[in-house]
Amino acid sequence: MAKQDYYEILGVHRNATETEVKKAYRKLALQYHPDKNPAGDKESEEKFKEATEAYEVLRDPEKRAQYDQFGHTRERFDGFRETGFGFETNFGNIFEDIFTDFFRGTSNRRRARPQKGADLRYHLEISFEESAIGIETRIRAPRMEMCDRCNGSGAKDRASESVCLSCGGSGYVRFQQGFFNISKPCSTCKGEGKVIKDLCPVCNGIRRIRKERTLTVKIPPGVENGTRLKLSGEGDSGTMGGPPGDLFVVISVREHPLFKREGNNILCEIPISFTQSALGTEIEVPTLNGKAKMKIPAGTQTNQVFRLKGKGIQDLHGFQVGDELIRVIIETPTRLNARQRELLEEFARISGEEINPLGKSFFEKVRSIFG
Ligand SMILES: [Zn+2]
Ligand SMILES: [Zn+2]
Repeated sequence: MAKQDYYEILGVHRNATETEVKKAYRKLALQYHPDKNPAGDKESEEKFKEATEAYEVLRDPEKRAQYDQFGHTRERFDGFRETGFGFETNFGNIFEDIFTDFFRGTSNRRRARPQKGADLRYHLEISFEESAIGIETRIRAPRMEMCDRCNGSGAKDRASESVCLSCGGSGYVRFQQGFFNISKPCSTCKGEGKVIKDLCPVCNGIRRIRKERTLTVKIPPGVENGTRLKLSGEGDSGTMGGPPGDLFVVISVREHPLFKREGNNILCEIPISFTQSALGTEIEVPTLNGKAKMKIPAGTQTNQVFRLKGKGIQDLHGFQVGDELIRVIIETPTRLNARQRELLEEFARISGEEINPLGKSFFEKVRSIFG
C-alpha cells in the first residue's frame, strides 16, 4: 500500500506553518490516542501512528525540507522507529513538545477536586484590662463565600457550561512517554471536565465572592499579646464543595500606663515619698478591679516589692490566678524650701551625719581609701 502523504495525514496545507502543523497533530493525537479509544481499536492505533510519524517529520524544518524534496524515503528519517506499538524512540520528545503549553503550571496529576478554603487572620486590638478579664466583642470579618448567583459553578446559566472537548470531560489527558503512561490535568478546563462560555456576571467566573460578616468573638480572660484564637470554619469557603478554612483572631494587647504583665502576674511601680517610706503609711494602689489599700511598713527601702495575692491575671489554660507585684520607688524630695531644709539638716545632725552640701566628705573618704 502506498504511503499516504504526511501533509494529507495531518490535514494541513503544504505551506502550513509550524504552529498549524502542531495544532493539527495535537487534534489528531487527542482523537486517536490509544488511551482515548477502546483497547484493540486497530484503526485508531494506525491513525495515531501515522499522525505521529507525519508530525515527527514535518515539525523538523530539516526533515521537512528533505521530505518535500524526496518524498517518502524512510531511511532518511532516522528520528522515528517503530518498535511494535511502543513508540519509545523520540516519542517523549514529541509529546513534551506538543503538550508543554498544555501542561504549563499544572503539577497535580489528579483532576480538580474539592479544596479546603484558605485560613484567614484577623487582628484584634484590645485593652490590657480586656485581656485580663476577657470580653465578648463583635468583629466585621470579610471572607470569600460561594457565589449564590451561580451556586459556585462560575457560569451565567446551565446553557453556558459544556463538556470540555480537549479531555472529553474526564478532566485529564493521558499520554505515553517512554514506558510510562502519564496523565495530567487538562489545561483547557483546569481539570474540571467542562468549560464555561458565558461567565457568571456576579463573580466573573471566580465562583466565590467577597462577603463581610459580623461575628461575635468571645475573648477568654488571660489572653496575651499574640494569642491566636481559632474560629473553626469561619475562613474562606472551600471550592467544589470542600470545607471552609478557619479564622484566626490574633490578639494584640495595648500597653497600659501602669501595668505590665509578667506571666500571670501584674507588675506595677508606685512612687512613695521619703517620709512615707521612713515612717510607714497606708497607700492606695491601682488593681484590675479598682483601687486597693496597701500598708507600707516603716523603714521600707526603694525597689522593695509587695505582693497583692490573687490580684493578677487568670491563667488562660488553667484556674490559677497570678498576683499583683507592687514595687515602691522612693522619691527624693527636690526644691526644698527653707523650712524643709532646716528640718532635714536638723534630722541629719541628730542622726550624726556630716553635713556637706558639696559632698566633700565623700571625696575625702575616696581619697583615704585610694591614697
Ligand atoms: Zn478538559
Ligand atoms: Zn457566580
